[in-house]
Amino acid sequence: MQLKTVRVLGKPVHLVNMQEAVSYLRGQMAEGIKQFVIAQNPEKIMKSLQDEELSAIMEKKATLLIADGVGLVIAGRILGLPPISRVTGVGLFEEMVKAANEEGKKVFLYGAAAQVVKKTGEILQQRYPNLRIVGTQDGYEKDMEKIITKIQQAKPDYLFVALGSPRQEKWIAKYFDRLPVQLAMGVGGTFDVLTGNVKRAPVLMQKIGLEWLYRLLKQPSRAKRMINLPKFLWRVIKAKFNF
Ligand code: UDP
Repeated sequence: MQLKTVRVLGKPVHLVNMQEAVSYLRGQMAEGIKQFVIAQNPEKIMKSLQDEELSAIMEKKATLLIADGVGLVIAGRILGLPPISRVTGVGLFEEMVKAANEEGKKVFLYGAAAQVVKKTGEILQQRYPNLRIVGTQDGYEKDMEKIITKIQQAKPDYLFVALGSPRQEKWIAKYFDRLPVQLAMGVGGTFDVLTGNVKRAPVLMQKIGLEWLYRLLKQPSRAKRMINLPKFLWRVIKAKFNF
């Protein structure tokens, strides 16, 4: 399957829906092509405009860039791009865990607070009895060599990294060649969501694209970060009309 790329403020996003994303990853991995997934969102795209390292990772290292969040869908409409499907990072994480359970693949979870990543492992194990979780590691250990050795010894097929952005993308890019995995994916606050540390919005709000509003109301401290969304859309409008 050939991926189609669109560009939003010059940054790449792949045109896939959830099903296509999963089958693309499965197909590539079956051919022995190691995968690095980035969940693109307005905030990451804005950051990458000023962060060359992050920008280079998007261009040269990531193998699949999903459109995580309604902001990119709206941007696509404003720019008159072919329709962008929203594929959330949390959603793709769940699909890949399900696939791992069915295929007997080994999973390693890295990131978040110690009790959060531990509990994430327990919840997933309960939900998917056949899932092989071969290791967990909190995101606050400073000794990187220790972590890399731990992952190398555990030999996971799928590695999920929840360090927040752009830390997780930079971490994966830096160690990619040393990681004995088929898939590495940055999953941001997913472990917090899964363990109920941070709740997801009600389904209706998710469906109509208002999850960001729910998160804002729940965690007002995110307001500073969320100002990025209108800023992003304003830049998209400026790009569209050239002013
Ligand atoms: N985190 C971590 N190590 C750090 C900083 C953050 O493991 O040094 C974790 C943090 O505990 C949280 C996640 O990274 O679970 C960041 O979540 P956030 O919702 O901020 O992710 P983003 O919105 O950037 O995807």
